[in-house]
Amino acid sequence: MPGVAQKPIGANFSRGGREGQRGLILHVQEGEGSLFEWSSEPSTRSSAHFWASQAGEIEQYVSVHDRAWTQRAGNAEWVSIETSGFAGKPLTTAQVDAVARVYAWGAREHGWPLEVTDSPKGRGLGTHAMGGGAWGGHACPGTARAQQREVIMSRVRTFRQT
Ligand SMILES: [Zn+2]
Repeated sequence: MPGVAQKPIGANFSRGGREGQRGLILHVQEGEGSLFEWSSEPSTRSSAHFWASQAGEIEQYVSVHDRAWTQRAGNAEWVSIETSGFAGKPLTTAQVDAVARVYAWGAREHGWPLEVTDSPKGRGLGTHAMGGGAWGGHACPGTARAQQREVIMSRVRTFRQT
């Protein structure tokens, strides 16, 4: 994605093998600070395509034409974004904007629909938790952040009008 910090990692993802572009999955970091070093460490065996800081900075670690190792069975069809902070706290306004920027780009470049979804077979802006056991059985990103998806989508719509 143009206009974001490109920090390609050398491990913890699979080249190609994508089976579609259903949309973007929202994750929570349960920590703070860039995930570049952590995602680059081979023993981590985990990654995401994007990361958004609480100040709204965006880093991209994996091309959306490749599979990040984020939500197991959902890796081939979905793109992933980690958000700095903790599940008990909502996204900052700057983070809402950052996720919306990534989504607006994906909508334009990859046809992601301007919708929120709670189904692994749906399309739109989803959550890690919606994938259940096949996606690792996580509660990620927590209720507070999951509920902000409509606000994020409203921001995406304003970007698309300009
Ligand atoms: Zn997650």
